[in-house]
Amino acid sequence: MLDTGSLIDLLGQPQKIVITTHHKPDGDALGSSLGLYNYLIQLGHHVHVISPSDYPDFLTWLPGNEEVIVFTDRREESASLIENATLIFCLDFNSLDRINDMGELVRASGAYKIMIDHHLDPADFDDYRHWNINACATAQLVYDFIANVLNHKDYINKDVATALYTGIMTDSASFRLPNTTADVHRVVAELIDKGAVNWRIHELVYNSASENRIRLLGHCLTNCLEVLPEFNTAIIVLKKQDIAAYDVHTGDTEGIVNYALSITSIRLAAFIVERDDQVKLSLRSKGDFPANEICKLYFNGGGHRNAAGGQSTDTIAQVVEQFKLILPKYKKLLIQ
Ligand code: 5GP
Ligand code: MN
Repeated sequence: MLDTGSLIDLLGQPQKIVITTHHKPDGDALGSSLGLYNYLIQLGHHVHVISPSDYPDFLTWLPGNEEVIVFTDRREESASLIENATLIFCLDFNSLDRINDMGELVRASGAYKIMIDHHLDPADFDDYRHWNINACATAQLVYDFIANVLNHKDYINKDVATALYTGIMTDSASFRLPNTTADVHRVVAELIDKGAVNWRIHELVYNSASENRIRLLGHCLTNCLEVLPEFNTAIIVLKKQDIAAYDVHTGDTEGIVNYALSITSIRLAAFIVERDDQVKLSLRSKGDFPANEICKLYFNGGGHRNAAGGQSTDTIAQVVEQFKLILPKYKKLLIQ
């Protein structure tokens, strides 16, 4: 275990640091990682960001993106960096199974492991934890870690601010979710003061779709959406042949589930997609409906109350059927 004083002492000397985040990083995963990266390099540390998988094109403009190592493309180099690291920061996840094959390498490394995260039920693999389930984004916690734990607000430059703004913006669904508190807005205002160009970041993330991505959205809403009014639930089911027809890339399906949730009476929305080796579910809910409970209990996953994910090795038809069979158990919560 590390206490805060010892961590501050360690960070006072040059360290060999690896920053990693969860499989298929989203805006918060990559934004918090590159925010921390752009801070740590100013202190003279030797820092590498290693992502367990590829990530969407709409994040590749982030400052420091060119330095990110994708583990599956550069396994040996990544393994050596993890083995020789003195500190490993684990951002936006709290269980080593979220980083696939990298998990065992991180576990085996002699480095101190620092978890910065806002997901429920952290597993016990870390030496230091900056964890708060009430944070709207891990990027908010990275801001708090730099500004208030390490007292280094002055190091929050334009690059740090830009990456952290992106994390907060994406994980709070553009400052809409209930955990977007006045404090979050104060942090965001400060990030803008430090150089984050808010309108430009929105444009880069949300107005950068390929034509295929928008046509895929049209297809999903016209042909793949099923509304179950008796459960205030909407489901979008995307099959393998559609993935091929629309040349779907990583990130292209992100956000589609929110259209199903935006129907007025809908309290639970599911996006169920047939990937190469498994079926992936993305659940979103309104109010106090626990989407993460369904993912955890039935689909080997987890997440937050209003945004959760999971997967299954069953066929897509079986997964859809299983999902529908679960709904009666939650009827009271869904129709209230
Ligand atoms: P998404 O639906 O965008 O893939 O994920 C929504 C939320 O659920 C994110 O916070 C993500 O970290 C979490 N999540 C997605 N898939 C999984 C999973 O397989 N396991 C766990 N524990 N969390 C997941
Ligand atoms: Mn997050």
